[in-house]
Amino acid sequence: MGGKDLRALAERFAQICGPHRVLTDRDRLATYRSDGLLHFQVMPGVAVLPETTAEVAAVVAACHDAGVPWVARGSGTGLSGGAVPVEDGVLIVLSRMRRILDVDTANLRVVVEPGVTNVQVSQAIGPGYYYPPDPSSQIVCSIGGNVAENSGGAHCFKYGFTTNYVMGLELVLPDGEVVTVGGKECDLPGYDLVGAFVGSEGTLGIATKIVLRLIPAPEHRETLVAYFNDMEHAGHAVSDVVASGILPGAIEMMDNLAIRATEEATHAGYPLDAGAALIIEVDGPVSECKATFDEVVEICKRNGCTGVRVAEDEHQRQLIWKARKAAFAAMGRISPNYYVQDSVIPRTGLAEVLNRIEQLSREHRLRVANVFHAGDGNLHPLVLYDHSVEGEAERAEKLAGEIVLACVHAGGSITGEHGVGLDKKAYMADMFAEEDLDCFQKLRCSFDPEQLVNPGKVMPTPRLCGEVPGPYRQHPLERAGVAERF
Ligand SMILES: Cc1cc2nc3c(=O)[nH]c(=O)nc-3n(C[C@H](O)[C@H](O)[C@H](O)COP(=O)(O)OP(=O)(O)OC[C@H]3O[C@@H](n4cnc5c(N)ncnc54)[C@H](O)[C@@H]3O)c2cc1C
Repeated sequence: MGGKDLRALAERFAQICGPHRVLTDRDRLATYRSDGLLHFQVMPGVAVLPETTAEVAAVVAACHDAGVPWVARGSGTGLSGGAVPVEDGVLIVLSRMRRILDVDTANLRVVVEPGVTNVQVSQAIGPGYYYPPDPSSQIVCSIGGNVAENSGGAHCFKYGFTTNYVMGLELVLPDGEVVTVGGKECDLPGYDLVGAFVGSEGTLGIATKIVLRLIPAPEHRETLVAYFNDMEHAGHAVSDVVASGILPGAIEMMDNLAIRATEEATHAGYPLDAGAALIIEVDGPVSECKATFDEVVEICKRNGCTGVRVAEDEHQRQLIWKARKAAFAAMGRISPNYYVQDSVIPRTGLAEVLNRIEQLSREHRLRVANVFHAGDGNLHPLVLYDHSVEGEAERAEKLAGEIVLACVHAGGSITGEHGVGLDKKAYMADMFAEEDLDCFQKLRCSFDPEQLVNPGKVMPTPRLCGEVPGPYRQHPLERAGVAERF
């Protein structure tokens, strides 16, 4: 799109939202060039910051009429490049839509605008209620971004991911139409469009209102951190805890490199010579908690733990968690740059995949720190490199890619919670068959036939709606008369 047309669109946005909420100046736009994954950077043509659903709808309709691509952005903490703008396109920033619309604890529901941060939900509902999905970025990331990425966190092992807590959505569709899917009630009839939207990574429209489910807060929590000489013993302890039938609220693991980085940043008291640290939290009724907690300590001891530290009060509990939640940011203490990886493996494959990561780290001569949601088998290897050393960034990217493939080959997935975005789209074909990708594309096209919404993300190769790569061949569903090409 030419500069003149984009200027006309910016003027239209200024009429809708007011000129002070439309950014065209390159210095101010630079803030929005990337998300948390800094190596993808694109300058948007225009950024606009609507404050109401009506403003979002009018902005999206104007883009639709002008045929201009756009990208939604929450807080920009994503780690897969999902909110990276399109050059000469529009960035719709939702961080000013931050009202909590309804706290209905009697019905265990809360209704929020998309720019509300994850932690603000917990603050709004008070101590008797619980909203479990808790990404480590929870003090900044938005609920809109959580919905788009189907975000997880330490407590999702027991309680489930964002998708298990979204009951209803008000959506602005790619042509500007406003619709509501789902609601406060459970199990509404019809297709599960809420389920389709959650995790769609900003490719189907914009969530402007979100109904979340709450649960009563657990009566009691017990938290410990156990130290081991190596990851293998810690991994066996995780398997034994789960095999014993105990379902902890969270089981998180860090290796020695991660411990050293987080300790330098947080001074939480983890021993620097520990080969692995396992944070285990059990929650529920007091009597059950106490019984299972003793069993967890016993299992850690049986697996050779070298020490156990139990949180005696909420302050000590927060200190244990502080180290884990600061793990990504703490990498800056031990490396100029790092590349966050996010993939999933079956929990039983933990030892095998960790060994493979160590081998790859040696081959590529780069250090890899490991921090992960051990209960879910959701790994976050952090590949450490120095951008100023020629070739290291490329080596880091290659190593990270080989880790993804190792996880897929072990029966896992290319992403656990950070999404595909730009970062992982090249690996989609390693995980899904061509027929699966066609099916995803059909769903996307039914929302966005013009493909103006977050183009170039998630799908491995950009295609037009209905276009299949290579010579035309009938899809098995077409052959069966179940679906038709459009
Ligand atoms: C230090 C750190 C720790 C992290 N820890 C975790 C973790 O433990 N678990 C986890 O899951 N993630 C984690 N993340 C990743 C990130 O915080 C999450 O993916 C989060 O949900 C992104 O929210 P956001 O508001 O920043 O979204 P953005 O980065 O702004 O956008 C993410 C995607 O959502 C889309 N989007 C945003 N708002 C909307 C909307 N209203 N409607 C439709 N689409 C929208 C965007 O187009 C984009 O595709 C971490 C990130 C950092 C930097």
